[in-house]
Amino acid sequence: MGGGDLYALDFDGVFCDSCGESSLSAVKAAKVRWPWVFEQVDAALEEWIVEQMHTLRPVIETGYENLLLVRLLVEIKIPSVRKSSVADGLSIQDILENWSKLLPTLMDEWQEDRESLVDLFGRVRDDWLENDLSGWIGANRFYPGTADALKLSSSELYIVTTKQSRFTGALLKELAGVDFPSERIYGLGTGPKVKVLQQLQEMPQHQGLTLHFIEDRLATLKNVMKEPALDKWNLYLVKWGYNTQKEREEAGDIPRIQLIDLPDFSKQLK
Ligand SMILES: [Mg+2]
Repeated sequence: MGGGDLYALDFDGVFCDSCGESSLSAVKAAKVRWPWVFEQVDAALEEWIVEQMHTLRPVIETGYENLLLVRLLVEIKIPSVRKSSVADGLSIQDILENWSKLLPTLMDEWQEDRESLVDLFGRVRDDWLENDLSGWIGANRFYPGTADALKLSSSELYIVTTKQSRFTGALLKELAGVDFPSERIYGLGTGPKVKVLQQLQEMPQHQGLTLHFIEDRLATLKNVMKEPALDKWNLYLVKWGYNTQKEREEAGDIPRIQLIDLPDFSKQLK
């Protein structure tokens, strides 16, 4: 068995800071979905919303949740459009601490379903991408050094993300100048990350490789730790990206998880 390394790499919050783009896309999509909610939203309030979304980014697992957050922020500020029981007096800190409980409540009280919100969010991004490619690309950025780390790596690399693959590919190409093979991008719809990791480790061509999974979301790493079948994976939480100080401290106490900074990351990927 030949040695060597295999890296499964998260995308948003590891390579790409997409918070500006996803927040603006969410506002566009939310206006389509709930036009009456946004009738009274002026430019100043919209700016406030996008600003709060940077703070709230660590709670988001999948893109459509941005839409829910955007609407919730409007409901916090404008009582007359309130349809949820939770918005009254809710603070940004409350949302940060309780999002996993708030999410199902909002979906229920707003009578929304996940699939149509995922579709809509994807459609709005597609439209933006198609009609204003440079504007859309420009709303994203790569964390310093990460694109080079990707280009210079001689390891087996896979991107495992909850973003749609086509957007991931477009950003890698246009913003980072990397032609990353599309069959190495496992995007939204390819199954939960734990399943993707299992698939990767079972591929015949990957036998004998050392396995590494790099993420910015602690909850995702914890899910991997719950799977005995995945106990060969080395786990890393990046110190940049969308996690909170509290989560980094928690990860620091978990022996299986290594915290890495940007210089470590570039060295690792080599
Ligand atoms: Mg991430």
